[in-house]
Amino acid sequence: TAAIAPRPIKRLDEQLINRIAAGEIIHRPSSALKEILENALDAGSTSIRVTVKDGGLKLLQVQDNGSGIGKSSLPLLAARFATSKISSFSDLSSLQSYGFRGEALASISHVAHLSVITKVKDEGCAWKAYYTDGVLSSPKAGISLDPKPCAGNDGTTIIVEDLFYNTPLRLQAMKSASDEYSRILDVITKYAASSASSEISTPSGCTVKQNIGLLYGATVAKELSHVLISSGPTESSKGTRKRHTRKKMKGKQTGKGAKEVRDKKGKGKASYLTEADEMEVGDEDENFERGSQDDNEGSDGSEEEDEDVRWKGEVYLSGVNYHAKKMTFLLFINHRLVESSRLKKGIESVYNSLLPKGTYPFVYLSLQIDPKSVDVNVHPTKREVHFLDEEAIIRSVCDAIQEALVKDSGSRTFQYQT
Ligand code: ADP
Ligand code: MG
Repeated sequence: TAAIAPRPIKRLDEQLINRIAAGEIIHRPSSALKEILENALDAGSTSIRVTVKDGGLKLLQVQDNGSGIGKSSLPLLAARFATSKISSFSDLSSLQSYGFRGEALASISHVAHLSVITKVKDEGCAWKAYYTDGVLSSPKAGISLDPKPCAGNDGTTIIVEDLFYNTPLRLQAMKSASDEYSRILDVITKYAASSASSEISTPSGCTVKQNIGLLYGATVAKELSHVLISSGPTESSKGTRKRHTRKKMKGKQTGKGAKEVRDKKGKGKASYLTEADEMEVGDEDENFERGSQDDNEGSDGSEEEDEDVRWKGEVYLSGVNYHAKKMTFLLFINHRLVESSRLKKGIESVYNSLLPKGTYPFVYLSLQIDPKSVDVNVHPTKREVHFLDEEAIIRSVCDAIQEALVKDSGSRTFQYQT
């Protein structure tokens, strides 16, 4: 029999509940930064400035030039489950933005001192507001809680001070300011690398490859080859790859993308295009359009000939002569930095058989998938994502990478496991 007498169950104090919940979203300064950066991107910012003190533990300040926040929204800015990004459950299935839970700023306000300065373009002045535990607060006792008018540029500055000041265990768990700083740098660098599609400002007009050179070093950049991939329309099932032109990317729009992806599960195939081909990744208007039926010349009449372009990707990958001590994998899905351990594992294993033991590649992969088929709901921190047709897409990406590497090494086809 049990030697312990049962103790009564009691409700946790509300403030404690909120702090624990906040810790699930905000693990460390870099997770706060990622949330704040994504908000800035969701607000249409083209320039973002980040200031950091003590690895973000003392200060994390992010200034953007996005839409700003209307004064009337300020009382709810740090309220949990308050968001401007969705208003109904059905909005969840056509999500274009990455934030939507309205949890990030709320969480930050429970474990740090949060303040905001924001100005909407057509309003006469900026407003500054302070937040504690989800609600407007005042910087000093006796001063009113209301947002105060002040001078400021269009856009929003989010200021996070003394992160984890009220959760000493969490604070202790942070190894060192320099460790946190390098995580912050990692998040910023990854976003900046893809800023060829106008995210964080690196010198304007730079290509992704030039950005990678600036951020990760010229030694890496000069080892990279460039591969474009997409789902069909595919060649015959014999395995010879054929280039296709932009013409095949066009067609009429469909509203049933997600369902169709599911129906054709497993049939997706990589098409391998070189830099000389015409397809442009990052051209928003042409995303997710269906391939038109009359474009399937070269058909052998197989079922797969009417495969549509439902996703596409751009890869910069190091070759067999590049050997790093650890893998650098930058994954963007619809321009947002995410993680997919399955995709990473797949790519790793393609390289495994080609690189010397203990050495790793550099891979930048930007995928564009119908937003309807990306599930960002897996975890509140939204780093790990799942998407429909994951298996087939991973296969295609790995095939394309393998093909590029085989070319690079001059070797024959080799086996890999996903
Ligand atoms: P979510 O992003 O999930 O909506 P957040 O807590 O991250 O939740 O942000 C709450 C709301 O605050 C957003 O929905 C948005 O309206 C507003 N917001 C936050 N950051 C910014 C910003 N940099 N620019 C404009 N609006 C912002
Ligand atoms: Mg957000």
